[in-house]
Amino acid sequence: MQNVGAYGQEVSDTIARVYAFDRRTSQFAEFSRVECDFKYRGSRFRGDDRFVITAVEFVLGASSLGAPIRYGELSRALDVADGERAPAEKIREMVIALRRGKGMVIDAADSESVSAGSFFMNPIVDSETLAKIEIAAAAKPPSFDAGEGKFKVAAAWLIEHAGFKKGEPSGSVGISKKHALALVHRGGGTTEDLLVLARAIRDGVKSKLGVELHVEPILVGCKL
Ligand SMILES: Cc1cc2nc3c(=O)[nH]c(=O)nc-3n(C[C@H](O)[C@H](O)[C@H](O)COP(=O)(O)OP(=O)(O)OC[C@H]3O[C@@H](n4cnc5c(N)ncnc54)[C@H](O)[C@@H]3O)c2cc1C
Repeated sequence: MQNVGAYGQEVSDTIARVYAFDRRTSQFAEFSRVECDFKYRGSRFRGDDRFVITAVEFVLGASSLGAPIRYGELSRALDVADGERAPAEKIREMVIALRRGKGMVIDAADSESVSAGSFFMNPIVDSETLAKIEIAAAAKPPSFDAGEGKFKVAAAWLIEHAGFKKGEPSGSVGISKKHALALVHRGGGTTEDLLVLARAIRDGVKSKLGVELHVEPILVGCKL
């Protein structure tokens, strides 16, 4: 339902069909990829508890090579040109290593890995907003073509350019030392502590850079 994605790929790239149980009609249903209405971090299933997904069918290429790499950090780490392919096994190892370096792999020995992953989504903006961000931040934001004349901007960059620092505040809940987009729990924190920090970040980015950040995890029993 989230259309999980990272390092230039989304799960919808390889999904062929989704099977679900319809709680409204008590019938089983099937959806083609198009009918799933996948988008960035979303699908027709997100935000609606009508369908319980029971199975997913994937179509993978019969090759030991992964899909062409279109993510700068990954292509640099693998030492391949943008759009080139590399052994899938090597890509997998490198992606896990890069994620571990950002505290995004659960690790009992790494207190920075206690998070819900990225707390905010990368906002998708038009070229006018992108130019305004560049002026307000006095720096060029990293952005990716999101189609239809829009650009996906790195939320972690926006957070840091709005004045928030990795590792701060140092209390029970704070921004990860390894990744500005992850809010980590260091023990003894409450939901309210997390919400106070998240509100400060959302409001700070809005007032300094004029962009509204939206939360990625689903909040249960509370609101930002
Ligand atoms: C450390 C970390 C790093 C992350 N990095 C990324 C990332 O790089 N990219 C990214 O896209 N996401 C990322 N995430 C978010 C991740 O994709 C979500 O946490 C995950 O998809 C939630 O799915 P779940 O089944 O684990 O959770 P759940 O909480 O079980 O489910 C999430 C939602 O899906 C619903 N749901 C669960 N099962 C079904 C089902 N069978 N049918 C219908 N609805 C169902 C639940 O009701 C709930 O609303 C990260 C998370 C963490 C913790």
